[in-house]
Order: sequence, then structure tokens, then C-alpha cells
Amino acid sequence: VDEAVVEEMQRFQAQFKGIAQRYRLINRIGEGTFSTVYKAEDLFYNSYRNDWDVQAKDLAKWTPPKRRHRSTTPHYVAIKKIYATSSPHRILNELELLHDLRDSDSVCPLITAFRHQDQVIAILPYFQHLDFREYYREMTVSNMRLYFQSLFTALRAVHSQGILHRDIKPTNFLYSPLHNRGVLVDFGLAERQGYDTFPCLCELSEADRQRRIEGSVYAARGGPDTAPSYPKTDNRPGRRANRAGTRGFRAPEVLLKCTAQTTAIDMWSAGVILLTMLTKRFPFFHSADDVDALLELTYVFGKRRMREAAILHGQVFQTNIPSYDSGIRLERVVRWSTARSERDANKNYVQALSDDEVEAIRFLELLLECDPDKRITAKEALRHPFITAAGK
Ligand code: ADP
Ligand code: MG
Repeated sequence: VDEAVVEEMQRFQAQFKGIAQRYRLINRIGEGTFSTVYKAEDLFYNSYRNDWDVQAKDLAKWTPPKRRHRSTTPHYVAIKKIYATSSPHRILNELELLHDLRDSDSVCPLITAFRHQDQVIAILPYFQHLDFREYYREMTVSNMRLYFQSLFTALRAVHSQGILHRDIKPTNFLYSPLHNRGVLVDFGLAERQGYDTFPCLCELSEADRQRRIEGSVYAARGGPDTAPSYPKTDNRPGRRANRAGTRGFRAPEVLLKCTAQTTAIDMWSAGVILLTMLTKRFPFFHSADDVDALLELTYVFGKRRMREAAILHGQVFQTNIPSYDSGIRLERVVRWSTARSERDANKNYVQALSDDEVEAIRFLELLLECDPDKRITAKEALRHPFITAAGK
């Protein structure tokens, strides 16, 4: 273990009263914008009951049981130290959602949480996994079926509770290729569907949307006051919508500031992971900002589809980049990025895509569907032949 990390762990142990009597910190395993995660040994595993009650308890007031449970194998936990700069509301939100999801398949359960002054820590079972970068290039389509079976199992559970994860990406899905099992972590950006939404045109039927767009006044907050028009003559007020997430993984409706986002945004992000595996490029999308991200999507999906996607949410999409007219077929994207675009004299590809790959691409199209209403759901995905064939 790195000397600087050892020092940091010592400082943390000294500052967080009571932690050392219960846990032995081993290493730092994650460091992000919102938290630092340590691997630790739970010294009193099985010696206490997890009577978790949402209000983070004070570890300094905790007294170790008289008889320590003897276990021949050490029990490991992940200690997520949520930065004190996060708002209390945000921290509570993460803990509450984890608590609500505690019995969900493939979701990393919360064991308990503690607070010392302004510092909150969440205790999770340690999950053995591999770094995505170590295996995504070697994955076969069979491996992908198993990976997504596990991810969609988690998403089905999360979505059935009306929760949007909002940050689906490889570092938040801890996967063990050896066991073909993964757990979803990091509910730091998660929210309840409908909690922070305003009417959006995408919620209407096609006919009603058309009627609204053709001149009628749409006064609801966040919605357009008049029909969408060219940017220069557009006098609608600016729009606000939750765009939290990670660049490259945001669904078109997030980029287009849809004010009624649904759990479908997570399925898009799952699609980006599948695209990454098939193209063996990580990260696949690499945009500096949301406008850039829209252009990246336009390059693949074409202007017409992006214009249609924008209209759904009462937005106008325009670009003067002429080459983005038609988009590209995903087969071509996969060929390019895996250096299989070469053709022989008869214009046939020298290296064909396998049947498995073509099947994966067809499935990918259901995830990377620009209309969130038509996008495949986690529940549907688990019944899809691409996934039901997993492990067979
Ligand atoms: P952040 O909000 O900072 O992204 P995460 O909850 O995503 O925090 O955790 C950051 C990293 O810590 C993860 O990408 C993973 O590598 C590691 N980690 C988190 N929870 C666990 C766990 N239960 N078991 C093993 N490693 C974990
Ligand atoms: Mg994370």
C-alpha cells in the first residue's frame, strides 16, 4: 500500500472517532468527485445486529460486544467516505435510496452508516471485482450477455421502485468476469422518477404534441410558451433540467433538457457500455460539453433522428455541419473501430462480423433508441433472446 495512502488512512482514523475499534482499514480502492472508498476488515462481523435506521449513528458511542464472534475468514467491507462538501440533503438521499433498495438483486446493499460531526460514512459489503479496463477488450459476445443479464437485473429492481440511477457506467457496476456477477453501486446522483419534473411535450401523444407545437400556448413551467422556432427568433425562457451524470453516457433527452426524464435514461447508458464492448473503445464518446455530446450522437444517428428527438421535448435541433446528414450504421461503427472495414475486389468485407456480433448490434439498437418512450426497458431486456441466451 502506498505510503501517502497509509498516511491518509491514519488521518481519517484519527479524525473519525470510534472507527478504529470496529474496522481495520486496508487500502484505498476508489477516489471520485464525491467520495473516497476504502477496503476494510469488519472486526465485529456477526457480533452485532444491523439495526439500521436511516439516521446515521455515532460510532464514538458504539460499544463493542463483550464476546467477539470468532470467524476463521476475515470479513471485508467497503467504507464510502462521502465528502463533507456534499449537501446533507444529497447524502441523505443516497443513503435513503440504498436503504430502500437493500433487498434488490444485484444492487450493493447498505450495511449501515455512521456520522461523526460533518463526516458521513456508508458501510457496504466489499465486492470482489475487476477494473473494466482489464477485461472489456477481451469480452466475447457470450460474456456480454452475462454482463448485461446482471446489470439489467439490478436496473429492473431499481426501476421497479421508480428510481433513476442516473450514473450508469462501468465504474459504478462492479463486475467479476470470473463469477459472471456484478453489483450496482453509487446512488449519489440517483433520484425518484417524478420527484423533480415538470410537464414536457414528450409525455403527450403524437397527435397532442403536434397540436401543441402548431401554435397553441404551452404555459406549463419548463415547457415552451410558443411553438419551437429558430434560435434567433426564439423568445421562450431558458430551460432547466437535471443533467447530472457522466459525459459520454447521457441519453439524448438528458442533453436536450427534457423536464420529465424517466428510468429510460439508464437504459441508454447501458447501451453506451455495450457499444464500448463491441467497438473495444473506452470511452467511446468523449465530449467536452453537452453541445459536443449532441454532435457526437448526431454523427452516429444522423440529423433527421436528432431533429425528431429534439421535437419530442419541444426543442429545435439545428447544425450547419453538412456531413452529418445520414448517420452511420452501427455495423460500420463496430467495423471501423475494430479495424475490419477492409473489402476485397468484390466489395465483400475481408473479415465478417460474427452472427453473435450482428445479434448484439440489433439488441444495441433497442438500447440506443433516441425516443425514451420506445427504448427497451430493463424488464423487457431480460426477456429478450439476446439476454435469455446468456450462459447457454
Ligand atoms: P463515487 O460517488 O465517488 O463515484 P462509488 O460509490 O462509485 O463512489 O465508489 C467509487 C469506487 O469505489 C467504485 O468505482 C469501486 O471501485 C469502489 N467501490 C465502491 N463500492 C465498493 C464495494 N462495495 N466493493 C468494492 N469496491 C467498491
Ligand atoms: Mg462512482
